Amino acid sequence: VDRYNRGLEKSRRTFGQKLTALFTNFNGVDDDFYDDLEETLIGADVGFDTAVQISDEVREEIETNHVSGQKEISNLIVAKLVSLYTRNGTKEDNHLVFATEGPSVFLFVGVNGVGKTTSIGKLAARFKKRGKKVLLAACDTFRAGAIEQLQEWGKRDGVPVVAGPEKSDPAAIVFDAVQKAKKEDYDLVLVDTAGRLQNKVNLMKELDKMRRVITREIPHAPQEILLVLDATTGQNAMNQAKVFQETTDVTGIILTKLDGTAKGGIVLAIRNQLHLSVKYVGLGEQVDDLSPFSPQEFVDGLFS
Ligand code: GDP
Repeated sequence: VDRYNRGLEKSRRTFGQKLTALFTNFNGVDDDFYDDLEETLIGADVGFDTAVQISDEVREEIETNHVSGQKEISNLIVAKLVSLYTRNGTKEDNHLVFATEGPSVFLFVGVNGVGKTTSIGKLAARFKKRGKKVLLAACDTFRAGAIEQLQEWGKRDGVPVVAGPEKSDPAAIVFDAVQKAKKEDYDLVLVDTAGRLQNKVNLMKELDKMRRVITREIPHAPQEILLVLDATTGQNAMNQAKVFQETTDVTGIILTKLDGTAKGGIVLAIRNQLHLSVKYVGLGEQVDDLSPFSPQEFVDGLFS
């Protein structure tokens, strides 16, 4: 929790400070107040539509229930932010789905540099610590150095990596990985993929082929297709997410580099505009810098 709070310090400090600043020289709510609220939310990358929606809902509640105190209003904003996040989801929706029997397979998708390989390395360590037998599959055969980077993580975590030559067919490597997982009773296979958004048709074909290979070997797998997004890229991350959603059945988001941005509001935009849950957040470059995402904890920290 300490690490989690430290990682989010930047987001909280600035987003929180700006929200708190809404109440300097506060003489009750007026149109300026709602304008400032919208501006603050937009500045935190909540997204325009989401900002307007929050502001409208806050206004309606304030007017209907005659809410007036500063404390009450900030509590109302916090509650609204959390409810916007949890509205279409279940409480436990940062949980990842595992197979009830046999190996589970998680595919990691996302463009280069967002933190796919790093997140896989962190998650492998996390699940290994919980007693799971974890295997990594180096199916990003496109980016130079991606295979070695995953192998580095494998060494660090003490987890084997199935890999092939650069530029080879990722479907062949994932095939080897799931075969090995079945034969040697692995619990979990984490699959790195190439994020070539430039060619959507090729990307779609490649991901489809990998999924077919996996499902043929292990019915119900892959259990998760996790889209990795870089929180520091704001609206760009939202655009990437839209393309990936059109390309494959994304089951959840890993939002990285939340430690490096004051724009933590993107978690609300992802939820409200894309209807996807943020399962984990990346809070730094070290192996422990990954945390399950909790909307309540996140939003609670904004005004404190
Ligand atoms: P990939 O191309 O998607 O596999 O991205 P990488 O895993 O290679 O990550 C790209 C860079 O981002 C690396 O330098 C990572 O150390 C860094 N990185 C990944 N996740 C985080 C994070 O949560 N916080 C910070 N500060 N850096 C991160």
